[in-house]
Amino acid sequence: TETLHIVGGGMAGSEAAWQAANAGVKVVLHEMRPKVKTFAHQTENLGEMVCSNSFRSDDDEQNAVGLLHWEMRQAGGLIIETAHKHRLPAGGALAVDREAFAESVTAALTAHPNITITHEEVSDLPAEGRWIFATGPLTSEALGAAIQAETGADRLAFFDAIAPIVYAETIDMDVAWRQSRYDKGETEEEQKAYLNCPMTKDQYEAFIDALLDADKTEFHEGETAKYFDGCLPIEVMAERGRETLRHGPMKPVGLTNAHKPDQKPYAVVQLRRDNALGTLYNIVGFQTKMKYGAQAAVFKTIPGLENASFARLGGIHRNTFLNSPTLLDAQMRLRSKPNIRFAGQVTGVEGYVESAAMGLLAGRMAAAEILGHTLPTVPQDTAHGALIHHITGGAEAKTFQPMNVNFGLFRPLEGLKGGRRGRRDRYKGYTDRAKSEWSGWLEDQVNFTSEATEKA
Ligand code: FAD
Repeated sequence: TETLHIVGGGMAGSEAAWQAANAGVKVVLHEMRPKVKTFAHQTENLGEMVCSNSFRSDDDEQNAVGLLHWEMRQAGGLIIETAHKHRLPAGGALAVDREAFAESVTAALTAHPNITITHEEVSDLPAEGRWIFATGPLTSEALGAAIQAETGADRLAFFDAIAPIVYAETIDMDVAWRQSRYDKGETEEEQKAYLNCPMTKDQYEAFIDALLDADKTEFHEGETAKYFDGCLPIEVMAERGRETLRHGPMKPVGLTNAHKPDQKPYAVVQLRRDNALGTLYNIVGFQTKMKYGAQAAVFKTIPGLENASFARLGGIHRNTFLNSPTLLDAQMRLRSKPNIRFAGQVTGVEGYVESAAMGLLAGRMAAAEILGHTLPTVPQDTAHGALIHHITGGAEAKTFQPMNVNFGLFRPLEGLKGGRRGRRDRYKGYTDRAKSEWSGWLEDQVNFTSEATEKA
């Protein structure tokens, strides 16, 4: 049978190789380290964790990333199994001994009879053969250029500028109102596309003080400033002048407060819909390097967001990623070159776990294709399904930024009420539904993988 080539032996590439090899497919894994280095990786191990040693919450009933853990374990995921083997005490989080973890991932892949590892940089998108590119946020420069040549320069970003994302249901609509600036748009939906939070002069001044005082994180060494031109964090805008934000993302023009039409707001914070379901809104222009704790505190001073819950907080990082909603099909293949798949953080997910999860799917999809099958569609109501659906179709393409897994990506459940108690029931409802659908999906694949293993 045909060989599967996988480029990048990080979280996604390692998982993809494991899944495809276990399905009975021969895999060549191309990893450029140690010949070509990145600023963040320190070793030549596969599955190296570049920063924190945590895979986040392991709670598979109340947490979306914990659910992703559960689903990966059911699918025999190498990354999650190895993480459990090298677990360190860390409360509800799955923290690991990073060296033992990466050494163990490397050993498992090296020992696998279906996997060959080569240490070389791949710097083009081959026209022949079947490939998965899982080259991550620090994709090599030469390959980045080749991807841009294929997709167009504006479809591959070299950094993310993530504005905080709020769960729509936690925005106080007695304070916020729906309106696009100058009521722009052809349809009523477009004319009311934004949510607006008004500020008085005192509230604005206090907000600027809070921004200036907040704890900030520094750029990592090696993340050069040239990547971040034209995309200033809001606190840097505030440092340039107290009025800068009021003339930038917080300008109050073209908007009338529907709750108090006679009071002109001094400044306005706008939120824009972030997914087709309408469950998530991002705060427009609010990319930031404030620490997470500081962000939550500062953003909750915005009128209407006092009780906001955040699906993700803001950030700016060196991060190479595709505009997946326009470039990839539902099987993560490049539409313009379907022999090429992408997986991991480069597809616009964010985090070790999410990246490994997209590797798991890509590995299975490519293996199925080689074995003459099409993988059944990943059920949308699973954590894997919610993520792949988001990046390949559900997200707004124009404002696409990397996403971590969260319950805002899940389709609502019927008949469950809001409130704190309601939320626990709802999350349990999401995870129960996901588990049952994921188990069914895995079962559907048993037949063709066992046939293939027998043949191999
Ligand atoms: P990676 O794990 O980066 O793997 C990609 C692999 O591809 C690398 O081994 C690289 O050497 C190789 N490669 C690149 N180009 C080529 C090429 N042309 N040819 C061959 N090989 C190539 N996530 C978290 O969850 N927690 C964190 O604390 C965290 N901190 C981060 C800090 C930094 C500085 C960065 C950049 C990212 C961080 N992330 C963090 C995100 C994290 O990188 C990803 O979540 C995860 O590692 C991505 O997995 P991946 O497999 O897509 O990419």
